[in-house]
Amino acid sequence: MSSKIKWNSHLSKQFSINQKVRQGGVLSTHLYKLYINELPEELERRGLGLNIGLEYCGSPLCADDIVLMTTDETEIQAMLNIAYKFSCQHRYNIHPEKSTLIKTERIKTSKQQHPLTLGEKPIKEDQQTTHLGIIRARALPIEAELHKRQLSLLYSILASENTKLKNAMERQMTVNAGNSDSFFSRAQEILNFYNLPSIAEFKEHLPSKIRWKKDINRSIADKWSNLLQKEMEEKSTLKHCKIQILKIHKVHPVWRTLPPITYEVKKANIKARFLIGTYLLQEHIQRFNGNSDDQKCLLCQIEQEDLIHFLLRCPALNEQRQKVFPALIQAIKCNIGQNKWQEHFTGNKELLMQVIIDSSKVRENILILNEETSTEIERISRKLCYDLHCGRTLLHKRMADARQFEAKDPGCKD
Ligand SMILES: [Zn+2]
Repeated sequence: MSSKIKWNSHLSKQFSINQKVRQGGVLSTHLYKLYINELPEELERRGLGLNIGLEYCGSPLCADDIVLMTTDETEIQAMLNIAYKFSCQHRYNIHPEKSTLIKTERIKTSKQQHPLTLGEKPIKEDQQTTHLGIIRARALPIEAELHKRQLSLLYSILASENTKLKNAMERQMTVNAGNSDSFFSRAQEILNFYNLPSIAEFKEHLPSKIRWKKDINRSIADKWSNLLQKEMEEKSTLKHCKIQILKIHKVHPVWRTLPPITYEVKKANIKARFLIGTYLLQEHIQRFNGNSDDQKCLLCQIEQEDLIHFLLRCPALNEQRQKVFPALIQAIKCNIGQNKWQEHFTGNKELLMQVIIDSSKVRENILILNEETSTEIERISRKLCYDLHCGRTLLHKRMADARQFEAKDPGCKD
């Protein structure tokens, strides 16, 4: 087999492919499946991995992307050993770095825990991994998604005219009433969780599919918004962010007010880091290494580099600030008038910082936020945060370069 590469309507010279499969070829994945098929067959033959009913589903795979699924920790090591041995026999490498172990709650663990290995190398454990380009995680909102689908199946059964299906449902509901593994018990639990009517009530009066979908989606969004907000209230990094407006299906102004321009999205990325408290300043770095001298701003060495210093005070970044500040102050004054500006903002750096990071958190009697003001303040503060970030990064880089230069040639100080 031979191949050519097409790039910008130019074709490369022909070259032959003596091993492996053609990159991007339609046949390639199918050929690879044939090549690797003995592995899932071997696992199934040995009874390793999960089954649903009589169907084996312990090792779903597509080409070289494979998932090994089991509820038993000793079994997973056996599966890994077989997969590793197979790769050695068939002369391909499974990268231990690219292999991830995800533990779910329902795992049976042996008393003595050994790290799982692929060949000689241990496999890292994580909360999520990517299989076929899709993130497989056990993050909570996935649970909401599963609930939605289970309730959708419940609706299809309830709405079905099929007598056999209806009889099977009645039978299941009677026989498995107390069994929490039965689908209908589980569906009832889900309905209770979202304060929705019971299955019996729905059987009496089933709404239209559109009505059902609307009610279910709203109940699920409300419930998870509440749960996530409770969790967010405990996070100190979110203290400058108005978490009450963060709801499922609602977008924070930092993203909502954004024009669809790549450059603006880049700026909003930096702004969002201030919003969720993940932009690292010297104050944060010090908390990790415990040396209080490190709290000082590296740019000016005057005081601790915290948010107020960085956004409003650091003299090394005055140039960037002066370009944006007049517009910001003008926008605020236009909104609330000169008197209120004097009353609330004079000497109140904390308040000005809050306007910059998340103006929606400023009380309504201080700032009147309509869509127009919100967009304008976001636009200005997005630019401010980004310009300050670029200024700071550039100065840090210059300092690092100078240090490197001094280290190479100590005589240059004189
Ligand atoms: Zn400074």
